[in-house]
Amino acid sequence: MTHKLGIIGYGTMGSWHAENVRDRIQGLDVALVYDINLEKREKAKASGFAVCESADELLQSDVDLVLIATPNNFHKDYCVRALDSGKNVVCEKPVCMDMQELDEIERAVERSGKFFTVHFNRRWDVDYNIIKNVLAENLVGKPYQVYSRLFSNRNIPGDWRTVKKSGGGFLYDWGIHLIDQALQLFGVPESVYADLKHIYQPEVDDAIRLNLKYPGNLNVHIIADSWTFINEARWHVSGDDGTATIYDWFGRTGKIVRANVKSVDWTQGCVYTENGLSRSMWPRPQKEVTEMEIPVYKNLPYWELFYENVLDCIEGKATQYVTKEDIRNSLAVVMACFESAEKQSVVEVKKYL
Ligand code: NAD
Repeated sequence: MTHKLGIIGYGTMGSWHAENVRDRIQGLDVALVYDINLEKREKAKASGFAVCESADELLQSDVDLVLIATPNNFHKDYCVRALDSGKNVVCEKPVCMDMQELDEIERAVERSGKFFTVHFNRRWDVDYNIIKNVLAENLVGKPYQVYSRLFSNRNIPGDWRTVKKSGGGFLYDWGIHLIDQALQLFGVPESVYADLKHIYQPEVDDAIRLNLKYPGNLNVHIIADSWTFINEARWHVSGDDGTATIYDWFGRTGKIVRANVKSVDWTQGCVYTENGLSRSMWPRPQKEVTEMEIPVYKNLPYWELFYENVLDCIEGKATQYVTKEDIRNSLAVVMACFESAEKQSVVEVKKYL
């Protein structure tokens, strides 16, 4: 059975979906594209896609799946309209601007009985999946501190992403991807503390620091920087048995260092500096640690599985990969982070759930 995809918003991401669905996904045809901007419609036409002149035309057509890839402030209205028109819907992240908008979308999902999900494509990133396996295989023991970080030095794209009412800023843009990954690894945190910086953007955050606090000893520190010129590791994960780092998107650089012995011989040495000394800072001798390369995992999941799962769900053959709970939980953490940054205080996530 071949499904028909209609795309609303043919910008950077909408055109990426169009081309990647065409080239990589079987059983789904890109049938119709709508963008409010004539130039974008012309671009879609030049790339071989059929276009229409209005969203209504697309929603009244025979497409059975609609992808929403507009700026964030339009997501909710288009999602509700598409669901109420009897279409299955994939929405780009963030699903919408706040929990009230999400309530409206969820009511439309219930009303229509249609399939709805969000394109959390970073779940298929190699670096993330390696860390997931490293944790599942207990290679660093019980984690207590995780840094999930991204560094760029271009600030944020100078379009609607710089405008607050459009849903701009790094928290909605990159933060929610990294939050979704953290929630997949560790579940919903108890509370958050967030610092949202404005380095060059007066209206929206353009560098974020989020501290996700879990019961017990675990903190996940999420950093997405847009004005840093020397990168730190993408992942830095410490557990009670050792530490793992991954530096790049592809998991090619990084290592795991495990402690062979937990007891410490304090007579081994001392770091002397001009102003003092420290026994704590003396590194472990080589024989007390094992250094491993990052394992090469074959058969890591790949992005095509996202759309394959969407089509299987529409046909009633699978349960959805990015669930209603995942969508609600990740947005709830984003909302708690906005509140935390505004009040400069710790905010419990459950008040948004
Ligand atoms: P973009 O500015 O490149 O494209 C947005 C497009 O929407 C433009 O072509 C614009 O003309 C069109 N548009 C604006 N208002 C519209 C309206 N009311 N109706 C129809 N079309 C309208 O932005 P982008 O980078 O493609 O981002 C679009 C969405 O995709 C955002 O929600 C963003 O967060 C998401 N995104 C996701 C990823 C990812 O990896 N999952 C990556 C980039 C962007």
